[in-house]
Amino acid sequence: TRTPVNVTVTGAAGQIGYALLFRIASGHLLGPDTPVNLRLLEITPALKAAEGTAMELDDCAFPLLKGITITDDAKTAFDGVNVALLVGARPRTKGMERGDLLEANGGIFKPQGEAINAGAADDVKVLVVGNPANTNALIAQQHAPDVPRERFTAMTRLDHNRALSQLAKKLGVAVTDIQNMTIWGNHSATQYPDLFHAKVGDKTAAEAVNDQAWLENDFIPTVAKRGAAIIEARGASSAASAANAAIDHVHDWVNGTDWTSMAIPSDGSYGVPEGIISSFPVKCSGGSYEIIQGLEIDEFSRGRIDASVAELVEERDAVKGLGLI
Ligand code: NDP
Repeated sequence: TRTPVNVTVTGAAGQIGYALLFRIASGHLLGPDTPVNLRLLEITPALKAAEGTAMELDDCAFPLLKGITITDDAKTAFDGVNVALLVGARPRTKGMERGDLLEANGGIFKPQGEAINAGAADDVKVLVVGNPANTNALIAQQHAPDVPRERFTAMTRLDHNRALSQLAKKLGVAVTDIQNMTIWGNHSATQYPDLFHAKVGDKTAAEAVNDQAWLENDFIPTVAKRGAAIIEARGASSAASAANAAIDHVHDWVNGTDWTSMAIPSDGSYGVPEGIISSFPVKCSGGSYEIIQGLEIDEFSRGRIDASVAELVEERDAVKGLGLI
């Protein structure tokens, strides 16, 4: 029997948390042979709701679920953590200035970074889902100097999956017929879903589509603005698909994949300034990832990547200016 893996979920009582916890407990995050302990971190007023979710988790009698801890204390939540899913964040509300948003999130991700630094297991892996995810990941990372910096990642897998699905629909193929999809840059409206390196059979996706106007004016904005379209249709933000993407991200990081998209600290590859947390094409094996190198970037892609990266640099400079990193 294997020792349980400690998985911490912040914002556990929220919409994404509700869609995420049951899949972690049923083995979809780490596989059908890995028992888990769940640590639910919430703000004090949401503890009761988290307890309700924990009651439902109990009622599933999941064979792999060995324990549940519910707490509003980051130290307790991250003590011995192996996998940290940072979902809870301060959402942007109407009329809120960007500085206020970043400041509020600094107040969340700084102490969480410190608690991870103090108590996490040596093999800790961190995925930030809460927005602005890339910059929140940077804040947490900068307050966890003893944790290898590459363990802090942010989620662009939902964008990646959305891109797969939109492209499959356009070409009338299965999502499994598409390889090498990449999201570059920030998890925001400036993100760049890249069809010039994605493959469908022996063609690039861009060749298979053969319609630059669709690619620019339809595909890219549809992927980038899908979140808003879902709010419009559902009357609530995407939660199950976001939780599913978080599962995919960590699952592939742990279990390996030939090609996916993850926002990770840049090592300077592809002209992305070192240190910012930007999305790249990566492959994973043995529990670590590396950037896929050697892709040729044409002028169109260069412009898109640079625009998204410029936004990340601006966010980094803003949190620096606020003394958050
Ligand atoms: P959700 O569970 O719907 O969303 C949580 C975060 O995920 C938000 O920042 C949201 O960003 C982000 N997100 C990233 N990608 C997506 C996506 N594709 N679709 C939707 N959301 C996405 O929010 P709730 O308000 O339901 O729940 C948040 C919970 O977090 C609350 O229970 C709150 O109490 C808790 N919280 C906990 C903290 C802690 O543990 N210390 C700190 C702060 C909050 P966006 O807003 O941009 O959609």
